[in-house]
Amino acid sequence: MAFDVEAVRAEFPILRRQVNGKPLVYLDSAASAQKPRAVIEAMTRAMEHSYANVHRGLHTLANETTEAYEQARRSVARFLNAGEDEIVFTKGGTEAINLVASGLGLSLLKAGDEVLLTEMEHHANIVPWHFLRERQGVVLKFIPVTDDGRLDLGALPRLLGPRTKVVAVSHMSNVLGTINPIAGIIAQAKAAGALTLIDGCQGVVHAPVDVKALDADFYVFSAHKLYGPTGIGVLYGKAGRLAALPPYQGGGEMIGAVSLEAITYADPPHRFEAGTPPILEAIGLGAAIEWLSGLDRAAIAEHEARLYARVREGLSGANWLKVIGEAPGKGAVMAFTVDGAHAHDVAQILDRYGIAVRAGTHCAEPLMRRFGVTSSARASFALYNTDAEADAFVDALNRTQAFFA
Ligand code: PMP
Repeated sequence: MAFDVEAVRAEFPILRRQVNGKPLVYLDSAASAQKPRAVIEAMTRAMEHSYANVHRGLHTLANETTEAYEQARRSVARFLNAGEDEIVFTKGGTEAINLVASGLGLSLLKAGDEVLLTEMEHHANIVPWHFLRERQGVVLKFIPVTDDGRLDLGALPRLLGPRTKVVAVSHMSNVLGTINPIAGIIAQAKAAGALTLIDGCQGVVHAPVDVKALDADFYVFSAHKLYGPTGIGVLYGKAGRLAALPPYQGGGEMIGAVSLEAITYADPPHRFEAGTPPILEAIGLGAAIEWLSGLDRAAIAEHEARLYARVREGLSGANWLKVIGEAPGKGAVMAFTVDGAHAHDVAQILDRYGIAVRAGTHCAEPLMRRFGVTSSARASFALYNTDAEADAFVDALNRTQAFFA
């Protein structure tokens, strides 16, 4: 299957707009990706033709909507090679990690037990574990990051010990672009008797994921970076692992039976979906996955890698530029600083040229500290970006730097 970037772009209505009188060049997809027509239309169609609350009714619209919601779960299950009952809908990747951390805090972890993270984690995969450190004395350890932005896996034997109960690692760094060798890390964690959680918020976007082959206990991601809507994320958990987790929130739809004296809980995944779930968002996520699955994902990865290489080549003479993260095989994310300029100023000037990049700490303060910076700008490339956009970015960044020189 050939990859036709212009045909793909035509599916994204927002990409036709102008920003500050210039064509939009959207290089902030690692923060949130734009939405194809398939997603917009699936959600609109549901609202216009078949919408009601799920799991409740005996009427036609309730049954149709329940079917659409569960169909989305089946799409996600197929996408990850998981069982249907192993897919929990959450409000995002962040909530999925909180759900697991809080459940393991209640059911497994004791004071002195260790959770092994990495220095490159997003705050979403640090803070929920810090709660357990603060509240119950769990010890956090971190796999260090090398100067070129890889995990220093030589440190693993020293860090994985008899008290390591959980290893939680990002599949792909949202700052460095590094794609971590998660299969090997999972195997080593398992051999040490630890549970594994993979933060796939970035990783799932850029390569097919097979949770069975990976043998991860938990894998999480957010829909909105995967060309789907905001307000929904996915927690994959092995059936036995989900069954052993206590509920996260209480309310309707997650119970077996409730009396004034006692409660029993539904089986996973519904045990973890208290209240009215993100119904339209699930339908949108299902549409995003079906849409993406119709494309050649290897060709997309090649396209994004080529764009990244083109930008690096275009900026090869820029002695004022520092790129953070140079791991071999990294994804198309470029975090960078410009000598003499604050990252926020860089982002604001680029915006005048119609170019959208992110700037700040990228919710990864420990990683910023590791690289000795307080902030950086970040350009992230997606399947709809073009060579012309890569060149426009290089040109605008050169002009931006000239402003500060
Ligand atoms: N992990 C990583 C690696 C991310 O990039 C992000 C989003 N920036 C998150 C977790 C959190 O995702 P969300 O805000 O959608 O819950």
